Amino acid sequence: MAERHDIVVMAGDGIGPEVTGEAVRVLETVATLFNHRFEFRSEPVGGNCIDSHGVALLDESLQRARRASAVLFGAVGGPKWDDPTAPTRPEDGLLALRKGLGVFANLRPVRVFGPLAGASPLKADLSAVDFIVVRELTGGMYFGRPKRVWNTPRGGRAVDTCSYSEAEIERVLRYGFDLARSRRRKLASVDKANVLATGRLWRQVATRLSAEHPDVQVEHVLVDTCAMRLVVRPQEFDVVVTENTFGDILTDEAAVIGGSMGMLPSASLGSGRLGMYEPIHGSAPDIAGQGIANPLGTILSAALLLRYSIGADREATVVEHAVEQVLQDGLRTADIAQGQRAIGTQAMGDAVIDAIRSAAGSPPA
Ligand code: NAD
Repeated sequence: MAERHDIVVMAGDGIGPEVTGEAVRVLETVATLFNHRFEFRSEPVGGNCIDSHGVALLDESLQRARRASAVLFGAVGGPKWDDPTAPTRPEDGLLALRKGLGVFANLRPVRVFGPLAGASPLKADLSAVDFIVVRELTGGMYFGRPKRVWNTPRGGRAVDTCSYSEAEIERVLRYGFDLARSRRRKLASVDKANVLATGRLWRQVATRLSAEHPDVQVEHVLVDTCAMRLVVRPQEFDVVVTENTFGDILTDEAAVIGGSMGMLPSASLGSGRLGMYEPIHGSAPDIAGQGIANPLGTILSAALLLRYSIGADREATVVEHAVEQVLQDGLRTADIAQGQRAIGTQAMGDAVIDAIRSAAGSPPA
């Protein structure tokens, strides 16, 4: 009998449940067609968890996630929970989960699906764009202390702290070097060494590791230059490794190269097999509940789940090809429709499932 894999599903807020619903259906199809055994369990997270339990993540959910093979995550947040003075925010659940799972490397592959090249705002030749951003996920400004806002006689004041240890920088860069060796052997280490102390430490570590990896071509790129080059010559990048905040911003920028935020997947990995998989977009409150969100970024995240946490590379590729196939067939959700007829979230999920079935030699459901 096939090995059982527990998959914790944290759908979250806004369009989170809509897009994770389709990714779960895709994983169920893969399980049936390729003889896997996946047990799904839903756990609350984010704003809805604050509403029902007063916290953004339950400790028991974190423990369950730690014992699982993988976590499939939707998105959290929304205007309902935006009060800046609130004691807890939806994002606290996401940050606690990343920290609690020890997933320090966030992989965000960026490629342009041929049929979507026209949806990109860039007019350059995008066929050669194929890079992956490795974003450090458990350090930097998001976690640095002190972090607070207070009042002074002259008005409000706030402080955030950006802090990195050499060990934190080294483990994510090593991840990037290993990845580069499995790709085109090019690594861009992105920092702000001209201004920030953490940037200088980052560059020192990258330089030391570069000497250990003479087969990988390394360049140090300032984050502002990187932002510019991503829109001018994105095809030059192979593996881009950077710290937490820079990675968050650069990957949103990179997302539009592919045509839409709704297209980009991500995998957050640590030292073992357990990983967390989520689209890079947020909860999109402006379109939530309408059944029009693009589920492909989450479905592609499920493909990464198959590859990195289940070890099912062939099945991951089948899902990725199925996504390419539906785009080739002209199917579009509203965000990538560009005036063409758009289909809804569930219809897009159905189309991907049919393409997977047909690749596996099974008739449409
Ligand atoms: P967003 O990514 O939610 O939306 C940005 C724009 O992209 C919106 O116009 C939205 O409609 C569109 N979009 C996003 N995903 C889409 C999809 N799958 N299909 C079609 N269109 C899509 O970013 P935002 O509006 O800045 O943030 C909304 C909320 O999400 C905020 O509360 C924010 O804090 C939260 N957020 C959460 C995460 C996360 O959970 N990882 C990440 C980013 C933002």
